[in-house]
Amino acid sequence: MAIERRYEGRFRYYALVCDHCGDEAGHFDDFQEAVEEKRRYGFKSFNTDGEWQDLCSDCQNMMEYKKGTATALDDFGGIV
Ligand SMILES: [Zn+2]
Repeated sequence: MAIERRYEGRFRYYALVCDHCGDEAGHFDDFQEAVEEKRRYGFKSFNTDGEWQDLCSDCQNMMEYKKGTATALDDFGGIV
């Protein structure tokens, strides 16, 4: 979940968080604002092992790199 709803005392805000590295791109009062910033910031949703993750651009590059160099062992190693 890349946009987390948080409470701090009586304040409520939304945090834009990378699901992989935990990097926070910002805090927003408004959910819609967070969604727009998510697009601006270049977050993208990746399906990894059947789970959707929202990743920052750094982690996206890392994912693409991993995909490009994955071997059969990488693909099936996690199943056993
Ligand atoms: Zn990241």
